[in-house]
Amino acid sequence: MNRFKHLYIYMLSRKVDYNSILTYLSGTINCNIERRGADVLYKHYLGDVVKMYAKCRVNDVFRDLLREDAYSNSSIEDDIEEGYEQSMPSEHLQSKPNTVYDGFCLQSIYSNMICGEESSLDHVHIIITDMLIATYNEEDMRYHLNTVVLGYPSIVSTTGIVEAPAKPKEFYTLYYYYLSQGVTVSIDELKSIFKDVILEHDDPRLTDIVKGYVMQAVFYSILKDVPFCDEKRCILYNAHWQDEVIEAHIRYGGLCQRHREVLDEFNRL
Ligand SMILES: [Zn+2]
Repeated sequence: MNRFKHLYIYMLSRKVDYNSILTYLSGTINCNIERRGADVLYKHYLGDVVKMYAKCRVNDVFRDLLREDAYSNSSIEDDIEEGYEQSMPSEHLQSKPNTVYDGFCLQSIYSNMICGEESSLDHVHIIITDMLIATYNEEDMRYHLNTVVLGYPSIVSTTGIVEAPAKPKEFYTLYYYYLSQGVTVSIDELKSIFKDVILEHDDPRLTDIVKGYVMQAVFYSILKDVPFCDEKRCILYNAHWQDEVIEAHIRYGGLCQRHREVLDEFNRL
């Protein structure tokens, strides 16, 4: 078990209630917890951050950015000139909807931004962002959207929480049933029917769900391994469906017995 001493939460998202998240973490984890903004993260990199984010944009889901060494892409300068990242101050940089960023590329950039004294196992860094992130899967040779990218640092994506897990099968079944009957139904109408089991970008439940994904990153640092749990009611369950996310993080919103004991031991040490 890695008994780390410091937990830093970088608040780059505009969608969640950070006071609520910090209150939850302070009451759950026995360590020094520090809230940080983009200014701390970007401190020495403000002039470069626009270019760095632009390099992590995934323009083709079948092209592995890191393997193809995006850093040497000579056309990136022209791309940035026309890119939306250029139009906003770096410290307030927000992603455009539906733009996807390479999670490992972002992780590499953030890792370089963290100062040397805070890069030991004693220090855990978690970034909460609205950027839509994806990682390349070697097996089917394409990108897949992520809710969280675990590592150093870990990245939790609020947009990924809405976009990465699929809506319930019944949502698609009903949609195609209406289509087959020649009935016109809007996506908004369908969403209102399924509102208890699907997530939206302005969903007030996002704050509580982010707490669970932050805990996945915390457990990754405690266990020094992927922490996913088989118990569907545990916040460490690796949900692939939106109703599973709501089940684990909203209806139950806690740890299973086994992981509760791990956290209790961590807090006692
Ligand atoms: Zn568990």
